Amino acid sequence: MSRVLQLLKYPFSREARQTSLRLARDLKALVDLLNKPENHYLVEEAENRIYSAITQSEITYPDMRDEKHVLVYPAARLIVEEINNPRLRALQAEAESKTVNRLLADEDNEVLETLCNEALGWNVETMGNLQERVQLPLSLRSFEFRIRFENFLEVAPDFHADEWKLINRYVDKGWVLIRKRELNRLVSGKFRQIIMFGHLDLPKLPQRFAEAVQRIEEEIKGKLRKFEPLKITGQVTSAFPPCIQKMYDDSMSGQVNLSHDARFALAAFLLRIGMTEDEVNKVFGHSPDSDNRQIVYQVDHIASKRSMKSDTTGYTPTGCKKLQTNNLCPVYLGLTYDPLCEYVLNPLAFYSTRAWEISREPPITNHSWYAKSKEKKQSF
Ligand code: SF4
Repeated sequence: MSRVLQLLKYPFSREARQTSLRLARDLKALVDLLNKPENHYLVEEAENRIYSAITQSEITYPDMRDEKHVLVYPAARLIVEEINNPRLRALQAEAESKTVNRLLADEDNEVLETLCNEALGWNVETMGNLQERVQLPLSLRSFEFRIRFENFLEVAPDFHADEWKLINRYVDKGWVLIRKRELNRLVSGKFRQIIMFGHLDLPKLPQRFAEAVQRIEEEIKGKLRKFEPLKITGQVTSAFPPCIQKMYDDSMSGQVNLSHDARFALAAFLLRIGMTEDEVNKVFGHSPDSDNRQIVYQVDHIASKRSMKSDTTGYTPTGCKKLQTNNLCPVYLGLTYDPLCEYVLNPLAFYSTRAWEISREPPITNHSWYAKSKEKKQSF
């Protein structure tokens, strides 16, 4: 396969963007072109690509020998943007990004370097082949590339594992050493961001597109039903401490992948305040990378833990200190403030006090009583 054909299949590559522009100079020209009967097969392929994202099955990229296939991806984006459902957009971003990550695993270093430097405008250099890297200290020989730290930081904070924290990386004069599989993840993560946060000026969609939009809207009514927001009474959510509220909102938005620590903290908390396992599974079912079996297993594991000291089942919810260490306390991070946080050491203690305040008739909104009756446990 020629190098150009190899690059054309990546929708964000310079080759794919230039070819798209040559075939249709803007989105209006694109929909006009795709509305011609001889091009309807491309809209059909775009629809199939979205169905794959909805069902979280593998996206198959077309063979680019017919160069018009570069239009399938922008057509799929147009349809999803017209539907304007954040959950659908998150699924599309996740599926497209996973596909790129899978395909990059089979590419040689040169393709990866070209995509980084020419398509994404990053500064990435190879560290040489294996023989050349033999000159390096043993601990650095497995790094095939180096990337400027500012490019690394465009995507790395989206990943939660410790290896993605700059402090845990080998950095030399602003260059971060990186392995090929890690660079693949950065590239696919960047592509995910492009879909999630990119903006398209939608033209009026003609008949063939309108039909596709209608069919997919019908499809997601059934398929995404399980992701409808869980109904929690106003009283319960309004007693959530800021940390739990943030994790809960992130999870329900379907646009953020919670870290393992956040999932554990949220699950343990929700189970302890009386939610059923089914209800907790639904809260996590929104995540773009949700693997239902794994979530059900984790929630079941947390729920079934038995304490030797009490009859209560389930893990004790993570305490404030641990949440602060893991950057999961928005008060500690200075993003928000609630006076009650100064008097508690666990989000559960916050919840029971705030729920009691709300249950009074009329509800207690003046929190000055904390200073008189409670002992300060933390300061921010
Ligand atoms: S202080 Fe504790 S309860 Fe309050 S937001 Fe932070 S972790 Fe949550």
